[in-house]
Amino acid sequence: MSTMTAARLHRAGAPLVVEAVPVPVPAPGEVLVAVRACGLCGTDLHLAVEGDLSPVYAPITLGHEPAGVVADANDDPHLRAGDRVGLLPAASCGACRWCRAGREALCDAAEVYGMQRDGALADYVAVPARSVVGLPEEVPFDVGAIATDAVATPFHALRCRGELRAGERVGVFGCGGIGTHAIMLARALGAGRIVAVDAEPAALARAERLGVDAVVDAREEDVAREVRARSDGGLDLALECVGRPETVEQAVRSLAKGGRAVLVGVGPGRPALPALHAFVGREQSVLASYGAHRGDLEEVYALVAAGRLDLSTSISARYPLADADAALQRLARREGDVVRIVVEPGPGSGSA
Ligand SMILES: [Zn+2]
Ligand SMILES: [Zn+2]
Repeated sequence: MSTMTAARLHRAGAPLVVEAVPVPVPAPGEVLVAVRACGLCGTDLHLAVEGDLSPVYAPITLGHEPAGVVADANDDPHLRAGDRVGLLPAASCGACRWCRAGREALCDAAEVYGMQRDGALADYVAVPARSVVGLPEEVPFDVGAIATDAVATPFHALRCRGELRAGERVGVFGCGGIGTHAIMLARALGAGRIVAVDAEPAALARAERLGVDAVVDAREEDVAREVRARSDGGLDLALECVGRPETVEQAVRSLAKGGRAVLVGVGPGRPALPALHAFVGREQSVLASYGAHRGDLEEVYALVAAGRLDLSTSISARYPLADADAALQRLARREGDVVRIVVEPGPGSGSA
């Protein structure tokens, strides 16, 4: 049996163990992908550092934001060894009502890599052929990797759920990885005025470098009033990327008539709606957006390949697979205004 190197989570709070494990054997309908880059994100910290999310088994190979090349197409009629691919963060069943409707992020049997099945911080990962998205030649593997989650998620929120139209006024609440990419995407999709809200000066400075029209410090006394003042009377589309009740309420109170608030951040809180005579009378909407679908990732790749979306500045650091734990600890410390960190398996990374 051939072996490979994988970064495995044995216990939350303990370092990831980089060890030799068997190369996975793709099941019928699956293909084997040689991982070239895998992004790390907050979900990995919840699983491996904070321990407030638990994998269904341990040890488990972490990593759900990968791009690579098909190593074994396993007789799939549409894929060949050597094809460049990106992968959605979860394996979907392909058979349930949501998968059949093209909403695979809502799959009844979804398995997130690194949480419900072995992930991509490894030389190889076995994945359903249907969750593979072609990665254009023009898109490097590291960019292809971070796009799968950190970029496809806000794309889905803005375009599918928020139905962003050209010229609309957009507000982004929370300018971390998701929010930063939401700003870039809103611009690429033709938004009008863009207002960024965050409590961190470094995040607001980054939003300004990206060319937003206004920034609002989230520590202001009346954030919604400030946002309305800087967006000609209110937002058409507010994107909430924090997951706290007070931020959701600010986003909703920042809306113009007919405005939509799209919630991407998750958490245990319960936000309140405004008084109904105001909310209903202004015909406003609150929508949730979860993950992304295949088509979203394909569109993001097309935007990058066409030169409409430059994600090169989003990669703050690269680590070989052997140093996967150091990469995770760097993310945990938020050292140096990190947007995204990628781990790069393969030759020269210390792997077999
Ligand atoms: Zn992620
Ligand atoms: Zn399904």
